Amino acid sequence: MGPGAPQQVLEPVAAPGWRTSLGDPVAVLSHILAATPDAIFAKDMQGRFVLVNQAFLEVLGRPADEVLGRTDADFLPPAVAAALRTRDAAVVMSGTPTQREETFFHARLGERRTFLCTTSVWRQQDGTEPGGVIVHAADVTDRVQATAELRRSSEAMYSGIVALASDAIITTDEHQNILLFNRGAEEIFGYSAAEVLGAPLDTLLPEPAREAHRTKHMREFAQGAAHARRMAERLQVQGRRKNGELFPAEVTVSRSSSAGAPRFSAILRDVTERRRLEEEMERQREELARSNTELEQFAYVASHDLQEPLRAVAAHTQLLQERYGSHLDDRARRHIGHAVEGARRMQGLINDLLALSRVGTHQRESTRVDLNAVLGDVIRALDLSAQECEAMLRCAPLPEVEGDAVQLSHVFLNLIGNALKFHRPDVAPKVTVRAERGGDEWVISVQDNGIGIDPAFSDRIFEVFKRLHTREEYPGTGIGLSICKKVIDRHGGRIWVEPAPDHGSIFRFTLPAVGAAAHPGGDR
Ligand code: ADP
Repeated sequence: MGPGAPQQVLEPVAAPGWRTSLGDPVAVLSHILAATPDAIFAKDMQGRFVLVNQAFLEVLGRPADEVLGRTDADFLPPAVAAALRTRDAAVVMSGTPTQREETFFHARLGERRTFLCTTSVWRQQDGTEPGGVIVHAADVTDRVQATAELRRSSEAMYSGIVALASDAIITTDEHQNILLFNRGAEEIFGYSAAEVLGAPLDTLLPEPAREAHRTKHMREFAQGAAHARRMAERLQVQGRRKNGELFPAEVTVSRSSSAGAPRFSAILRDVTERRRLEEEMERQREELARSNTELEQFAYVASHDLQEPLRAVAAHTQLLQERYGSHLDDRARRHIGHAVEGARRMQGLINDLLALSRVGTHQRESTRVDLNAVLGDVIRALDLSAQECEAMLRCAPLPEVEGDAVQLSHVFLNLIGNALKFHRPDVAPKVTVRAERGGDEWVISVQDNGIGIDPAFSDRIFEVFKRLHTREEYPGTGIGLSICKKVIDRHGGRIWVEPAPDHGSIFRFTLPAVGAAAHPGGDR
């Protein structure tokens, strides 16, 4: 407010007997009455208009002198006037204001409008005697129309969804008579809506379920709204098609009411196809497991039985080399050399294959295993090769786990063996073994500073016979990591490789911590 503006003090207005610095309260009131767009009028105990404002006169389309002193009956049809008289009398008698929406013809606008009418009692100035009613009518036509429009469009949307849904949507009354049956329901059950509307829900249930459903349903109904939440859970049920066929279904039931009457709506999905797929998948899984076992057994038997004749071949070619080598010419000696070498390689291959198939076919001994002891044995076994390449081995303390000590020693043997084998030329191998706790499992890592592994192959190297190098570059059969993977799988863990920060690789594998939940391979 600017410095020169006139100071105007507005005292709080308190009714009754209010005071205001704006002047005469009656003048203020008249101003409000004249300015408001709401129709305001008062009637005396005989129903005669004793006060009317401009907005009300516009609704009636008459000047004040034609209205004051008259009653509703002078302007409105007798039935409407009588209804208003009854309402006014009720308000006077109870003393409590009422609020109602009413529709009147608006003379100035020339159309019917809806008013929210608040009717209350006014009292004589001197005492408590009621003088009549005073009505405040606010034009709410636009709001009412907007609400109706909203309801219409949401109803249209709702029926659109119901019609389009591929799930069955079925509504019943409290006696389980079908009131709504959408297209999805027609397709699933094979009945047309016309056939089942009004029929009992029993029609859609298999015989044995009917009675149970009826009593349970009725009991639940009696339990009322508190039950509604539990009803909203998805239930597994059986449905019965028109042709008598039974099918598995999932259903969610909700409770609502329409004009005070309870309604139950079920959204039901036919899960026949899903069940069939699940069963098919389960069958395939079993089939796969069976053929895997067969294959493992075959590999085991084959490699086991191959050992014997191979041993004979190896022994005899070696004998030939030793005893008759000096009698033969160079070419013959070279051929025998190749045969000896080939037999040795094949023995290596078969030994590795046997080791791999043993992991799958043999019962796993499950005991408490101290990984420090396992690692100690492995390091001793690898001592010679470690010395040859001047390797440095660092081992942090490892945990105790539940498992098969022999199988777990194969994991360390292969991982550390590889770390020593795949070192960079002229760089002495450095191998570090660590364990970290992650949730309810241990993560054990074997890190080297070797030639590293192209991340593109980090999955494939765990497959049988997969190698990234020739035998001439690095000896090996390509089975070691497959054994590791199989052992770790059987122990309920995972194994993978990551590039080491500088040079080399980090192989990590997990094992369930002792006391944590049983792992999948635990019963083997
Ligand atoms: P093998 O060692 O007999 O070749 P593996 O199954 O143990 O068979 O390993 C598969 C391949 O993975 C190896 O041929 C090699 O290419 C790669 N590899 C395994 N470990 C390492 C490692 N520590 N560093 C680099 N490459 C490795």
